[in-house]
Amino acid sequence: MNANPTFAIYTLGCKLNYSESSAIGQRLEAQGFSKVNFKEKADVYIINTCSVTNEADKECRMVVRNALNFSPEAFIAVIGCYAQLKPEEIAKIEGVDVVLGASEKFNIGNYLPQTSRNIFGTGSKGALKNKFTEIHSCEIEQPLEFHASYSSGDRTRSFLKVQDGCDYSCSYCTIPLARGASRSNTIENVLKDVYQIADKGVKEIVLTGVNLGDFGSRGPTGNYSKSALGGLGHKENFYDLVRALENVTIPVRFRISSIEPNLLTDDIIKFIATSEKFVPHFHIPLQSGSNTILKAMRRRYLRELYVERVTLIKSLMPHCCIGADVITGFPGETEELFLETYNFLNELDVSYLHAFTYSERSNTLAAESRDIIPVDVRKKRTRMLRILSEKKLRQFYINNLGQEKIVLFEGHINDGWQYGHTDNYVRVRIPSNEILKNSIYTVRLNSINEEGTVDGEIINSIHASETYNFQLSTLN
Ligand code: SF4
Repeated sequence: MNANPTFAIYTLGCKLNYSESSAIGQRLEAQGFSKVNFKEKADVYIINTCSVTNEADKECRMVVRNALNFSPEAFIAVIGCYAQLKPEEIAKIEGVDVVLGASEKFNIGNYLPQTSRNIFGTGSKGALKNKFTEIHSCEIEQPLEFHASYSSGDRTRSFLKVQDGCDYSCSYCTIPLARGASRSNTIENVLKDVYQIADKGVKEIVLTGVNLGDFGSRGPTGNYSKSALGGLGHKENFYDLVRALENVTIPVRFRISSIEPNLLTDDIIKFIATSEKFVPHFHIPLQSGSNTILKAMRRRYLRELYVERVTLIKSLMPHCCIGADVITGFPGETEELFLETYNFLNELDVSYLHAFTYSERSNTLAAESRDIIPVDVRKKRTRMLRILSEKKLRQFYINNLGQEKIVLFEGHINDGWQYGHTDNYVRVRIPSNEILKNSIYTVRLNSINEEGTVDGEIINSIHASETYNFQLSTLN
C-alpha cells in the first residue's frame, strides 16, 4: 500500500501537453505525491486538456467520469488549453474540483487540498472534494512566464519544450487564446535540460513548441527584456539554438517537431543538411495548397514559398522525410480550390500528410464566415488526403529500401515485434529481442510488410558512447 498521496495524469492533445504533464508530475512527486497509472485508484486525478479537437468537451467529460469510476472520492483537477478557454463549461462537469488555466497548472500543488493534506489516505468519505468547483485562470493577454518541461519515463525519446505561445493570428486557431504570446527558454537553460535528459539514458530529443521557429522572440519572463538575449548578447533565435545543440558532447540525436515554412530559413536547412546531431526530418505545416485559402487563413506564406522550402531540402538531403499538416473544408474552400490543394500535394515531394477536418472554434475570425462547407464534404476531402498520404508514405518507404539506416528501437515489444524509427523517420520492425530495447543499430531496410511498415535486418550496433554521424552515414 502506498503511504504517500497518489495522483494520476491523463493527457489529451499534442507533444507539448505531454511534456508539460510530465513536468507537472515531476513537481508533484518532489512534493511527496506518488504517481500511479490512470486506471488505478488515486487520490488526485489530473486531466490535461486540448482545445484543438472539437470533441474537447466530450472527451473531458468522459475522462472525468472514468476517473470517478476508479475512485469516486478522488479530487479532480482539469488543466490545460481547454481549461483556459472554457473554464465555466468545465466547472459544470459533475465531480470537477478545480479548473486551472495556462499559468496556474504549473502550480497545481497549491490548489490540491493542501491544508488538509493529512486527509489523504484517511478514507474519510468526500474528504478530498471541494464543496464548490474552483476556477483559476489567468488573463491570457498578460505576459506569461515560460515554464520549462520535458517528457520523461520513456528512455527512447523525450519531448523537450523550448518555446510556448504564439504571436500569429491564423484565422481558425485558438491556441494564442489558450496559451498566450510567444516566449521561450534561453539557450543556456535548454542545454542544461538536454544534459539532464541525456543523463537519464534518452537517445533522441524532440524539440517542441507551439511556434518553434519563433524561438527567442521573447525570453522566459514573457517580456521583450534582457531575458530574451540569453548568453549571446543578441536576441537568440532558432538558428542559434540549432547551432548550440550541434556542439553538445553527448550521444543524443535531435528532431524538430514542427516548424512554420516562413520561419524555416535557408540557413537552418543548410545547417541541418550537414549536421551530425539533427536528423533529416522536417514537419512543415502547409494547411492549404491554395493561395486564396492561405490568405483567408491568415497564414504568413504562399504556396510558392512552401515549394521553395521543399525543393531546397530535397536538393541537399534527397533522403529527408518531410511531413505536412493540411486542413480540409476551411470556409470558402470550393471543390476547385480543394483540388488545387490535392494536385499541389500530389506533385510535391513530401513524404506524408496529417490531414485535419476543419471545425469551427468560437472567438475565431473563420467561425464568423458564412461560406461554410458541409461537414460531410469536409470529411470526404480529409479521406482523400489520407489516402494520398498513404500512397506518399509507401513511395517514400520504397525509396529507402535496400539502404542501411540508423534505427533507434523503442523500449516496448508489440506482438513479438520490436519497432523503431530511422533517422529519416521510416518505421521499421524486427522480430523482438530484449537487447534491441532503447538501442541504436544499423539496419538494412528489406521490404514493406503487410502492415505498411518496413521489415529490416540488423547490420551492427552503435554504442551509446560513440558520437555518431547520422547524416553522413546515411547519405544516399
Ligand atoms: S502559427 Fe497559426 S496555427 Fe500555429 S499556433 Fe500560431 S496561430 Fe495557431
